[in-house]
Amino acid sequence: MTDNPSACHHCSEANSVRKHGKARSGIQRYYCSVCRKTFQVHYLYQGNEENILQQIKIGLNEGDSRIDISRKLGVELSVIDRHIYMLTMDTMA
Ligand SMILES: [Zn+2]
Repeated sequence: MTDNPSACHHCSEANSVRKHGKARSGIQRYYCSVCRKTFQVHYLYQGNEENILQQIKIGLNEGDSRIDISRKLGVELSVIDRHIYMLTMDTMA
């Protein structure tokens, strides 16, 4: 689990990428010093949304709070909330 993406999304350079603040949505932005472009990585720690949903479900089942889950997964609380909202919609459907 790392905070850095493996490589630049534009030029694929692996060691040129630095954090570059966060987007309004809470998504981490990155800056590549080789091609001088920025890009965003949505879900750094697992790489796909399905996994987050799974891990949030597990967390909730274990009685974790949203904040606990947010800390455990290293995800913004707003992202957790969005997923929990989606889970709620799922259950009600
Ligand atoms: Zn680049």
